[in-house]
Amino acid sequence: MVDIEFEYSVPVLVIGGGACGCIAALAAKQAGSDVMLIEQDDRPMGSTGMSQGLISAAGTQQQHKHGVEDSAERFYNDIMTKTQGQADPVIAKIIAENSGPTLDWMIGDLDLPWRLDTSFRPGYGNSVYRVHGWDGHNGQDMVDLLHQRLSEADIDVFLEAKLTVVHTDDNHRVCGVSLTRPNGEIERLGCDALILACGGFAANTAMLQKYIPEVCHARNNGHEGSQGTAVEIGLKLGAQLGDMGAYQGYGMHTEPQGISVPPNILINGGVLINQNGERFVDESEDIAGVVLPVLQQPGDFVWVVYDERIEKTALHYPEMKQLNTLNAAKSGDNIQTLAAAINVPGEALQQTLEQAHLAQLSHTPDAFNRQWHDDLPPENKLKAFKVIGAIYHTQGGLQINERAQVVHQDGTSLPNLFAGGGAARSVSGPAHWGYIPAMGLATAVVLGRTAGQSAAAAASNSAK
Ligand SMILES: Cc1cc2nc3c(=O)[nH]c(=O)nc-3n(C[C@H](O)[C@H](O)[C@H](O)COP(=O)(O)OP(=O)(O)OC[C@H]3O[C@@H](n4cnc5c(N)ncnc54)[C@H](O)[C@@H]3O)c2cc1C
Repeated sequence: MVDIEFEYSVPVLVIGGGACGCIAALAAKQAGSDVMLIEQDDRPMGSTGMSQGLISAAGTQQQHKHGVEDSAERFYNDIMTKTQGQADPVIAKIIAENSGPTLDWMIGDLDLPWRLDTSFRPGYGNSVYRVHGWDGHNGQDMVDLLHQRLSEADIDVFLEAKLTVVHTDDNHRVCGVSLTRPNGEIERLGCDALILACGGFAANTAMLQKYIPEVCHARNNGHEGSQGTAVEIGLKLGAQLGDMGAYQGYGMHTEPQGISVPPNILINGGVLINQNGERFVDESEDIAGVVLPVLQQPGDFVWVVYDERIEKTALHYPEMKQLNTLNAAKSGDNIQTLAAAINVPGEALQQTLEQAHLAQLSHTPDAFNRQWHDDLPPENKLKAFKVIGAIYHTQGGLQINERAQVVHQDGTSLPNLFAGGGAARSVSGPAHWGYIPAMGLATAVVLGRTAGQSAAAAASNSAK
């Protein structure tokens, strides 16, 4: 029995105003439920707001329009291949089967402007063109637009309210929450179903130390609100956790601007060079896992070397525009002048780039096993960004079932508690090497929609 008085009660309560929370709220509302969304900040942002807004989805109308053949089965196989069979098959299935319908629903029903990003070539685990974006826009545009849709759908959003306690009865049923306001006041809100969409734990050093010690000293370029609220609350409620060692790192966080170099720079031929003028990794192998080799290089930073041809493939990304406006790149008319500009040994850089060109010409993998195919390594006039490795977002979290319902350690499901996005276990396997591009937002929107629909059904059942 719960003897707490709730000042107010709503059928579905969503915690977190990023992509997962907004999509969950919109889906629950569309399923017929009254919904309220809670966000701790005064202006919603989250990791979603910091992202590039790119979403992987399979079997979309956009792919069909561009003649790209894809399917849920293919996406599932890509996830399982990339994670060496270690992703949760149930969650992988939800993502693979629902990503296409969810993106089509976002474009069709919610009038959101995603398009297939035909400049984001298959790679890093996606075997076909699957990344969808919004040309010229980024994550904060996405958050603002999603909140506009919440307002149009008459969904109440309660800002500057931090979830601090979840109240349950003896049967693990959530009855309501306590929210702490900036002035320390506590408000209690009842609900029939609760969705935790409050992100991961990349900003919580103690949790990183516990679950992912290898990056606990790395720069966090994710949102400071990723404090692991869902994990903390889940543990108190006896929830199961999964893949807590998984995370999305990034090896191209510019120093000192703090801007992400778009992946296209590496995909289309860019290379990473350490301070000895040497490459140290196959840059085409792993978009997120490359962070570890970068962190292991002398001096804690490396250079992304590219040329004008490669740059053209990324110019439409806002991040690249920003970097160019800030004149962030060092440049040189040839290898020697670039080497002088970035203070690496010219002879070593010359040898490094020559070896890459030789491998490309002979169609053989280079010393790091990179297959160059038709891509050319950087040549002629060269440019370079100084970059460091950073953690962007964690990928482990609350174990959920096929309805995005949180699973208890005893294997049963918590009856009216749901989770998605950074709060839940994702499909990146157990460590840094299983992240497929644009999967963070894919899990946020797909699990958000699933959680919203399931929570609406749970709330309607409890009203009967
Ligand atoms: C720089 C960067 C670039 C990225 N680019 C991409 C990309 O292009 N594509 C992609 O797929 N992924 C990308 N990611 C990952 C992606 O942004 C995340 O996976 C995704 O945004 C997670 O969404 P979410 O809604 O779960 O969490 P968030 O967007 O972080 O939202 C969680 C919200 O919950 C709020 N909150 C937290 N705790 C509480 C509490 N106790 N009470 C109330 N509110 C709370 C937070 O303030 C926040 O607003 C990127 C990440 C970063 C950092």
